[in-house]
Amino acid sequence: MDGKTRIGFIGLGAMGEPMAARLTAAGFAVAVHDADGDRTARVAAAIGARAATTPRDAAAMGDILVTMLPSSAVVERVLEGGSGALAGLAEGALIVDMSSGEPNATRSIAERIGEKGIAMIDAPVSGGVSRARTGELAIMAGGEAAAIDRAEPVLKAMGNSVIRTGPIGSAHAMKALNNLVSAGGFLIGIEALLIGQRFGLDPALMVDVLNVSTGMNNSTQKKFKQFVLSRKFDAGFGLDLMVKDLGIALGVATATATPAPFAGLCKDIWAGAQKVLGPGQDHTAAAKFSELIAGTTLGGSPDGSKG
Ligand code: NAD
Repeated sequence: MDGKTRIGFIGLGAMGEPMAARLTAAGFAVAVHDADGDRTARVAAAIGARAATTPRDAAAMGDILVTMLPSSAVVERVLEGGSGALAGLAEGALIVDMSSGEPNATRSIAERIGEKGIAMIDAPVSGGVSRARTGELAIMAGGEAAAIDRAEPVLKAMGNSVIRTGPIGSAHAMKALNNLVSAGGFLIGIEALLIGQRFGLDPALMVDVLNVSTGMNNSTQKKFKQFVLSRKFDAGFGLDLMVKDLGIALGVATATATPAPFAGLCKDIWAGAQKVLGPGQDHTAAAKFSELIAGTTLGGSPDGSKG
């Protein structure tokens, strides 16, 4: 616990709210802000933080500013302008961008604010809403060692592993590549369930088999029964955000001239799901797009009972 460090926290969505809650629970003095003022007030009251009406106010109340926003473009917007966070940060402050951002944008933000004596690291996370609640996120950290050292007590209140990935922007590249692997595992698993169901296999039973076999992945373990076969489609991670992450991963492939045919197809299918299903969907709803292509809806026994 570090009761002395004051933290400004911007972005109180599915992830930001439970992450900010971990910080107040750990004894940090936190000022929170979200573009949605009602949300700011509700979260501040619920977790014992101060409500800040602008990004500048949130930043001015902290030695460290944490951002947990949809994209690098939004991070840039939040920093700029008269009521932007940069206007509130003192020289020597540190920005910890925990959003899943874009490596080049992150590098250029860091360069720009570095000229004003403000440091930055990228520290995106994996583990979803459930692990955000328990403070067990996997955190990737890119940037100068001294800046990561300074952020570490704050990061450790939100995650149980902090892996240093290299210079600024490297953690954002790593995060996008993690989500590429996760997105591919989801799609191939759903395809296998659709094929199996049409063959006569029970999808829930298939998930049981995959989970004790080499086909197991995070989606088979934590998503298929819970959010797809149950038809709940409410894992808490947006389809729009997944498509954004895949765009970042493909951008890294292009920038490094790495042939990535599977990644390209994977992104096209996720983007197709986004187009057909519309905005604001949970990412697990992408299974409905695969069902649509197959002309088959996954059925069976979502609770896992064999039947
Ligand atoms: P979300 O859409 O639930 O929340 C985003 C929040 O940012 C919202 O409350 C929104 O009002 C706020 N916001 C948007 N524009 C703003 C602005 N200009 N100023 C202030 N606030 C603004 O998103 P999330 O699921 O919490 O994800 C946040 C980031 O974390 C994204 O980059 C996402 O890719 C990443 N991420 C999400 C998950 C997950 O499981 N949800 C897991 C790992 C990483």
